[in-house]
Amino acid sequence: MTAPLHHVIIGSGSAGYGAAMTLRGEDADCMITMVTIDALPFYNRYDLPGVFRGHHDWRKLLAVPPARYDELGIKLRRSSRVVDVDGERQTISLAHQEDVAYDRLLVCAGGRSYLAENLIDSVGLMHGFGSFEAAMRVYRALPKGGTAIIIGGDMIGIDLALTLLDTGYRVVLIANQQTFWPHVVEPVERKRLLKALENKGMTIFADERPVGVLDTRNKKFSRAVALESGTEITGDVVMSFCGLSSSVEFMLGAGVDIERGILVNPELRTTNETIWAAGDICQIWHDKEKIYKFYHGWKNVRVMGELAARNMSGSHEIFDVEVEDRLDIDDDGNLRSTFWTR
Ligand SMILES: Cc1cc2nc3c(=O)[nH]c(=O)nc-3n(C[C@H](O)[C@H](O)[C@H](O)COP(=O)(O)OP(=O)(O)OC[C@H]3O[C@@H](n4cnc5c(N)ncnc54)[C@H](O)[C@@H]3O)c2cc1C
Repeated sequence: MTAPLHHVIIGSGSAGYGAAMTLRGEDADCMITMVTIDALPFYNRYDLPGVFRGHHDWRKLLAVPPARYDELGIKLRRSSRVVDVDGERQTISLAHQEDVAYDRLLVCAGGRSYLAENLIDSVGLMHGFGSFEAAMRVYRALPKGGTAIIIGGDMIGIDLALTLLDTGYRVVLIANQQTFWPHVVEPVERKRLLKALENKGMTIFADERPVGVLDTRNKKFSRAVALESGTEITGDVVMSFCGLSSSVEFMLGAGVDIERGILVNPELRTTNETIWAAGDICQIWHDKEKIYKFYHGWKNVRVMGELAARNMSGSHEIFDVEVEDRLDIDDDGNLRSTFWTR
């Protein structure tokens, strides 16, 4: 009798969760371990703006209760950071000095909000919004009716901004090239879209470059963003929403090819035949265009996670999704995006 295979999944987001459930469906006996930095099991992060609508109970966010992982024999290792992958020895190393061996590895480590180089020194004065805990910190830092300053404004940030306006807060948007990411928007269209946001009540700085965030706690507002022009914008919290940069650092010694994300073939396999990648972290070979492409968005990453899992179990399916990419304004002046899930 052969020993059951040990599948290790790095990441418990949409791709990792979909993959774990699919792996278990494909093979009742294999060992499945998910390793994640997250403190909470999987939930859909597009629900996070709901904290401003009173949704503060993390249990109600979860896709399935924690006990479900045990029932399915999926070992979920939370609050654990992978710092290295050795593709030859087939081991991952965790920050707390433990090595875990795998037969097949799926990397679903996603990406984090990109921050412009000149704002890195200000990171301690800004808020993130990538997890339930971070969203609650923003909620607590914003006084009722207070002002959020958003730098960039990708579609994740615009969604949050519209929720804030709808729930009685003020929003100042400092637009840049990443505004409306992942959509690519022509200049004329961009003007029209920004005007639509202004009509919703947003204050917009369209041609200004932020150069730093200031701690102004002893004044009326606790934060200010300094612009290159010399203007200072005051508010209660500052957040950057400028698209994603892939979380690939721990893969640098794994012996797989990396460009901006992990490069995979259409079967989502890397250049190491025991390692697959799925979700926001990977760039998939597009044979017609002869380039590796990102396919961001919740719908794509879930499909990828499930497909990678079937291929790890012996299939040879190809990721061949027609991605609908549309951003427009409806008759009531609301933005409509194919990226948004709600
Ligand atoms: C507030 C918000 C709103 C959003 N709204 C939408 C929306 O409306 N529509 C949409 O399509 N998408 C939306 N998104 C984006 C969507 O959530 C992502 O596309 C999707 O989560 C990507 O899934 P993923 O599994 O590839 O990566 P992620 O969900 O980013 O998961 C990455 C996982 O990897 C783990 N990880 C990373 N590095 C390590 C490491 N070194 N060691 C161990 N674990 C690690 C993380 O802890 C996490 O569990 C939103 C995101 C946010 C934050």
